[in-house]
Amino acid sequence: MPAFNANTKDMQFVLHEVLKASEQNIPGYDEMDADFTGAVLEEAGKIASEVLHPLNEVGDREGCQLENGVVRTPTGFKDAFDQMRDGGWTALDCDPAYGGQGLPYLMHTAVGEIMSASNMAFNMYPGLTHGAYSAIHAHGSDAQKQTFLPKMVTCEWTGTMNLTEPHCGTDLGLMRTRAEPQDDGSYKITGQKIFISAGDHDMADNIIHLVLAKISGAPEGIKGVSLFIVPKVLVNDDGSLGARNDLSVGKIEEKMGIHGNSTCVMNYDGATGYLLGEAHKGMRAMFTMMNEARIGVGLQGYAQSEVAYQNARAYALDRLQGRDVTGTKHPELAADPLIVHPDIRRNLMDQKSFVEGARAFAFWGANLIDRAHRNSDAEADGLISLMTPVIKGFLTDKGYEMTINAQQVYGGHGYIEEWGMSQFARDARIAMIYEGANGVQALDLVGRKLAQDGGKHVMGFFEMVKTFCKENDSGEMAAFVEPLKKASKDLQAAGMYFMQAGMKNPNNALAGSYDFMHMMGHVCLGLMWARMARAAQDALANGAEDRDFYDAKLATARYYMARQLPATSMHLSRIETGADTLMALDAAHF
Ligand SMILES: Cc1cc2nc3c(=O)[nH]c(=O)nc-3n(C[C@H](O)[C@H](O)[C@H](O)COP(=O)(O)OP(=O)(O)OC[C@H]3O[C@@H](n4cnc5c(N)ncnc54)[C@H](O)[C@@H]3O)c2cc1C
Repeated sequence: MPAFNANTKDMQFVLHEVLKASEQNIPGYDEMDADFTGAVLEEAGKIASEVLHPLNEVGDREGCQLENGVVRTPTGFKDAFDQMRDGGWTALDCDPAYGGQGLPYLMHTAVGEIMSASNMAFNMYPGLTHGAYSAIHAHGSDAQKQTFLPKMVTCEWTGTMNLTEPHCGTDLGLMRTRAEPQDDGSYKITGQKIFISAGDHDMADNIIHLVLAKISGAPEGIKGVSLFIVPKVLVNDDGSLGARNDLSVGKIEEKMGIHGNSTCVMNYDGATGYLLGEAHKGMRAMFTMMNEARIGVGLQGYAQSEVAYQNARAYALDRLQGRDVTGTKHPELAADPLIVHPDIRRNLMDQKSFVEGARAFAFWGANLIDRAHRNSDAEADGLISLMTPVIKGFLTDKGYEMTINAQQVYGGHGYIEEWGMSQFARDARIAMIYEGANGVQALDLVGRKLAQDGGKHVMGFFEMVKTFCKENDSGEMAAFVEPLKKASKDLQAAGMYFMQAGMKNPNNALAGSYDFMHMMGHVCLGLMWARMARAAQDALANGAEDRDFYDAKLATARYYMARQLPATSMHLSRIETGADTLMALDAAHF
């Protein structure tokens, strides 16, 4: 069976030597010294390895069952959820006014990686609850916050997000679910939502559904959509649970992965709902949840590749096949281990350099969110808005690819369920699709985010890369800075191409959007690797004890620069061919 151990050492390196978290002037960060974060991560690692990861395979095998209208989760999930609640893991960064611990989002993200890597399907129950908590926290009335947030912080009540309908996923303007205003100020919600993650289960007393619907007479299209709080069980004025609301689970979907998470068809039959935020501004309120969820999904992508990599590495060190062509390494054994072969090393280095770079990128993103929220820092807010589709799209595409790489290290055994490698790939696959499929993330990046606020944020990002390069362009750092400069130039050239050719025909920009998202992902990881190389060099220069760790960092940084970052050239070449070759065929000829 596969194993999982949280890579707390690398997390600590990113938190303290790359981001220098406790030195940042952000409320709450002064507590985040290495002892504190180390203790939290170690504890999170324990529950992840001992409780959640052993249930990963159970969840995959048993799946969720719909029995008499109620979803039953796999054996052990309920106990594990109780342990998560008791340990306070659901409340880390929540507002202390509602029972949360008030820690930075960065801490929530680091712990989230551990939980998600150990059991992605399980972690979606608290994950979606956190998103719903954030939407109510940002847009709810005082009364709504008092009623719902304390129970959601503890996950006594969990949350969901209901956007998708059978005929609309990306194009939510087509939505048919209706909301009829009632005399008491509530609404009656009627319609069907599909693919609702954690839509029902047996681990909480109540489920708070956030449902998008159109109020009768609302404007057509996306502008007419409002957001509603629709509890599974209605809540009395004194906070106690009342009658069952008029909603039910139509069925749960059979799917490729994340079997431990219930994906439900939800039927709303005149269910009582309460408007969250302003009427017809539902997408704005839902975006609070969706932006958070997109970062969380990016994290799922690289977290699955982390656990897959850990197992592939162990297998490559253990499995004996063939001999090292440059000379036998282990004459006492029948063959050398897989790790001697250059192609296996290529495969593992791709994984290692991705996972560690992605971790730094995701933590940096979480740090930007803290700066934006806790310091009202407009620059950070603009940067994270720009980066959100990249974190979601690039980290999930590559994350999935790396789970396939890890499976490949096992040869045929990777394809056999007993070894558990196929589950990582099957689970990781959905992250490329939900929360806005990755093609739509690329459109968001190129169609909206690049031009946002007159292009200020993307220019700010280029400036940031340039400044880093200028400050580090000498000595041993030159080996990292030169490739980064080249990649950043490619990215800027692609931006210029979009501006010029996209003016003539918008398809020229849209045809290159996916390449651009990957290009930008590579430049971000390149920047992270250069920053990590800087931190490793500093540590070595200051006589750090664990020289192997820092030497490995530098070697991995060199690998990324040599073997991954040059992908920007290929993406640029593709982008500069414009839309012609994509649009040449008549639809009938596909
Ligand atoms: C397991 C699972 C869990 C889910 N959980 C939830 C949940 O909790 N809540 C929820 O509301 N939904 C959920 N979803 C739904 C998910 O978010 C949608 O499936 C997804 O957003 C895509 O919508 P769609 O399936 O209707 O595809 P479509 O919108 O039909 O898109 C099909 C393809 O076309 C592309 N496309 C669409 N429009 C454009 C365009 N303008 N330009 C270029 N390409 C385009 C898309 O990228 C996609 O590849 C879940 C789905 C699954 C499978």
